[in-house]
Amino acid sequence: MQPVEIITTAILLSWVAVVILLERAIPYRKGLPFFREGFWTDLVLYTLVQSYALKIIIFDCLILPLDQHFGFSKLHFVTGWPIWAQVLFFVVTHDFYIYWFHRFQHSSPLFWRTHEAHHSGKQVDWLAGSRSHALEIIINQTIEFAPIILLGADPAVVPIKACIDAVWGIWIHANVNVKSGRLQYFFNGPEMHLWHHADHEEVFYANFSTKFAFWDWLFGTAYLPGHKPLKWGLPYAFPKDYFAQHVFSVARFDEDGLAHRSAWYRAYRGLRLRLLAGLTARVPALRPLHGWPVPETHTGTVPAQRPGGNFGTSPAPAAAAPALLPTAALPR
Ligand SMILES: [Zn+2]
Ligand SMILES: [Zn+2]
Repeated sequence: MQPVEIITTAILLSWVAVVILLERAIPYRKGLPFFREGFWTDLVLYTLVQSYALKIIIFDCLILPLDQHFGFSKLHFVTGWPIWAQVLFFVVTHDFYIYWFHRFQHSSPLFWRTHEAHHSGKQVDWLAGSRSHALEIIINQTIEFAPIILLGADPAVVPIKACIDAVWGIWIHANVNVKSGRLQYFFNGPEMHLWHHADHEEVFYANFSTKFAFWDWLFGTAYLPGHKPLKWGLPYAFPKDYFAQHVFSVARFDEDGLAHRSAWYRAYRGLRLRLLAGLTARVPALRPLHGWPVPETHTGTVPAQRPGGNFGTSPAPAAAAPALLPTAALPR
């Protein structure tokens, strides 16, 4: 491990501890259990296993062969820049890209299939952002890290940028009742992104920013009312299992129905549930996994309050609503 990797890992782990403490001290949504539904799927399969496997695919199978073939990094486009300028350049340019790709994913029925998993959690917290379809990660991180390597950036930029991504990703999903005032026009945080995960019609096509909120304000997709959402997640049933979630993006099926029909799936699901049950039986602290439910005050999708679009707290005329902000349901 390089020194920069040790430092960025230490920063990330410390940040996780700080955010977990903040979630307990000043929660945005009170009563959210630490071991909420999907916690182990998000931590073990999405954060550890998927990230490790996709890192190999993205760097060793895509970016490095590309560079070996074309040799772009030998041209050293950004090599002479100070490291802070390199980091800033790649943070801003990739954030601009991710705003538009994210917006596209919400408007394209095909690409929505690569993003719906990210919206499937009904309990959003510091770990929720890790739930991203493998294809979404491959597309976004290849487009993120290929320019860093191909333009000849300092090798330290990759771990620094990855650390910034993780720290910011944890922050915008954190169940923390932060009040950042006018900073929300510039930096994206839980106030706007927890709304993006809400199962409310008026935000199905709003708050696409990841790091910088000004993209949303600039391109007319910001939504920041003075109240909190009533419910989170998707307006339709979504599988709870990692592999089933990926299959569901290709072919729609009912998870319970599949377990009923397929002995293979029944055996696999039984094994998974037994593993979780065994874990919680041995470690009493993990028991909230099976209880302590967060009350769902609303069962259906919360309908849009202002048909025609919602911008901030003041009513906007229907004619001013952009075409990408309908009150229709999300694609399925
Ligand atoms: Zn989204
Ligand atoms: Zn998110």
